[in-house]
Amino acid sequence: ARTYVITGAGSGIGKTTAEILASRGDRVIGVDLKGTEVTGDLSTRSGRQAAAEEASRLAGGTVDAVIACAGLALPKALTAKVNYFGMTEFLEAIQPALTTSNAPRVALISSMASLQPVAEPLVDALLTDDEDAALAIAEQLEQDPQLGGLIYSSSKRAISRWVRREAPKAQWAGAGIPVNAVGPGTVVTPMTQDLLATSEGTALVDTMVPMPLNYHQSPESIANLLIWLTSEENTHCCGQTIYCDGGADAVLRGDDI
Ligand code: NAD
Repeated sequence: ARTYVITGAGSGIGKTTAEILASRGDRVIGVDLKGTEVTGDLSTRSGRQAAAEEASRLAGGTVDAVIACAGLALPKALTAKVNYFGMTEFLEAIQPALTTSNAPRVALISSMASLQPVAEPLVDALLTDDEDAALAIAEQLEQDPQLGGLIYSSSKRAISRWVRREAPKAQWAGAGIPVNAVGPGTVVTPMTQDLLATSEGTALVDTMVPMPLNYHQSPESIANLLIWLTSEENTHCCGQTIYCDGGADAVLRGDDI
């Protein structure tokens, strides 16, 4: 049995992933705002540090895998804090507990939205790990109803780039820790349920995320990929965002690879 720390384990993809792992006999330490082993707020620096410390402590100092799922899709600056720093700073804080595992692994959730239009200055500010600068840009975007949606896509583009940039480094690959991301298409979870409840919302989503293979997905399709990426079987996949999106990336990005 392996010990997993899963952020966002209170709902949706994180919750389903936790349930599958627990049903196989693995130990899961969930982190979320409520309803999990660790109660923590990943939108603040102190919240991230405290949650990582508490999860490491509950794990007895050794964590075999971390799956970072916690996220928001609101057109608000808060989304940048949770989706980017809530993953990257949490992972950096918990990294020491991974180094004592025999087969440490990390997976994050990016999104198909990482391939959609972004606010480049926000992506750049996130990747310089300057939270105040990123927040200032995100707060400006939040004020404009036309631009607020770019906060989500920018946070996810930054996550995919962070994974690519950081995964090969000494702290991760050099310590034998594969770091990868999954880019889901439209997953039916509490995050999307309001949007998918109306035909207008569904039509909007389907224009942005065309899914010719099997249409909208359940959280299991993403959970199973996250579980493989964080299994002992994954020995060489490093720095990738694997789009599991019913073909949306293939349709939208086409030959641009
Ligand atoms: P969800 O809303 O069901 O679950 C997200 C979880 O994150 C919730 O339990 C929430 O409480 C937690 N969370 C939010 N803010 C937090 C904070 N400050 N501190 C701690 N926890 C916090 O959504 P989901 O669909 O399961 O999404 C999981 C991940 O998948 C997110 O990163 C999301 O961006 C990504 N994603 C989802 C879809 C989709 O269609 N649902 C598509 C692509 C990517």
